[in-house]
Formats: sequence, C-alpha cells, structure tokens
Amino acid sequence: MNTAKRRTVIAGNWKMNFTPAEATSFINAVKPLVAGKDNCDIVFCAPYVTIAAAQAAAEGSNIHIGAENVHFAEKGAYTGEVSAKMLRAVGVDYVIVGHSERRQYFAETDYTVNLRTKAALAEGMKVILCLGEVKEQRLAGITNEVVAMQTKLDLADITAAELKNVIIAYEPVWAIGTGLTATPDQAEETIAVIRATLAEIYGEATAETVTIQYGGSMNEKNAAELLAKPDVDGGLIGGASLVPEKFAAIVDAAQ
Ligand code: PEP
Repeated sequence: MNTAKRRTVIAGNWKMNFTPAEATSFINAVKPLVAGKDNCDIVFCAPYVTIAAAQAAAEGSNIHIGAENVHFAEKGAYTGEVSAKMLRAVGVDYVIVGHSERRQYFAETDYTVNLRTKAALAEGMKVILCLGEVKEQRLAGITNEVVAMQTKLDLADITAAELKNVIIAYEPVWAIGTGLTATPDQAEETIAVIRATLAEIYGEATAETVTIQYGGSMNEKNAAELLAKPDVDGGLIGGASLVPEKFAAIVDAAQ
C-alpha cells in the first residue's frame, strides 16, 4: 500500500441491502470499531433511500456516505434516475460509477459510464470508477487490453484537474460476489497496467497520484495480503461491508 503518494480508501458497496433502520444499526455498530483509524478514508455507498439515515448515524465520525450510481443528465425525463445535483443537495460526496452489476444487468456501457463520471465530477463529487475484466477475457489472456481500453473510454475528456476526484476500483468481474479473489500478484499486475494507461494519458507524475483500489471478494482474511501490494491503494468491498466486524478488520489491515 502506497500511503506516501496516494490516499488509501476503504469503501463498502452495500448494493441492494439495508433499510434505513438497518443502515442506522449498522453505522452505529461499525462507528466505534473504525474510530480514529485515520490512515484511510472510510466510505459506505448506500441505496438512495438509506442515505439520509446512514448520514445521520455517521455524523461527526470519520465515515463518509456515498451513493451507488448517478445519472448523467442534470434533470428531465429519466424515470427512476437521480442526478449529481440531487445527490449534492443531500450532502453526498462520493459515488460509485460503472459497477459491473450496472454494466451487466442495466446495460451501462463505457460511454454512459464516462457521461456519469463527468456529471458527478462537474458537481464536485468524488467518483469511485469501477472497471475490470470478465472471466472469459482473463482466460483469453486479454485482461491488460480490456482494462487499458476501459480506462481510456471511461476517462475520455476528463482533465488532470478533474482526475484528482477519481478513485479507480479495479474489480475483476469473476471475483465479485463469487468468493474467488484475484491473487495479490494478479491485482498488483493489473493495477500496474491501469496506472501505466493513466500515465499514457496524463503523464507519469499524475498517474502516481491516483488511488486505485482492488475489489472482488476482499474480506477480513485476505485484505492484509492484498493491501500490502504497493499499487493496491484500498478496497471496494461488497459482502464483507455488511458485517461491522469484517469491515472493521479490513480497515485495520489498511492501517
Ligand atoms: C463489489 O460489489 O464491488 C464487490 C467487490 O463485491 P464483493 O466484495 O462481494 O465481491
């Protein structure tokens, strides 16, 4: 973990879990476990309807509450969607964009991921931009090409100044919610490809400043090994972010 140049970010993705009451109980339980753990930023990305309850429970703590997606239009006829301006209006400063479940089940593409990223950045939000290869691509030996292409398309027309608010989450799709984890070496190697692609676009000095997380069945048992890699700057965590003790153990591993 490179804490010298980059901020480590440990983020939970609650997905479609937790009512407002459950979110309140969860935050109240995790808060004391992560208090004072200032070597990393701590974020929970919540379903829209639980954001307010999670924020209220997290108030005054070192926990940030984010959203799980954002639409690219400012307003208009987009039934069911929520804009960056709306999220900002309720004090949300982090948002996940391009999660593989959004790409897989809701037909989001690199083009719309790029638009959503730009919309969130324009409102001054921090974006956790997810990308990663599917199993067939890893087996075909084209992981590096896939993540390089996604990096370029998802960040198209995003300036170096805007990039300061982008956190990239490298999430091999075959590892998400499957219990399979990339080995620390696989995570390190692929993150190095993403960083080299950032260097191509923005120059090496800027690329070195971008936080790149690993996500994919990170848990309390494997986090220390993954986070020990020099290019792994944190984690995006699904399943283990629903259990206070498991999530807190990952935060401990990042200290
Ligand atoms: C995720 O949802 O981004 C994720 C990595 O999930 P899990 O940790 O459950 O694999």
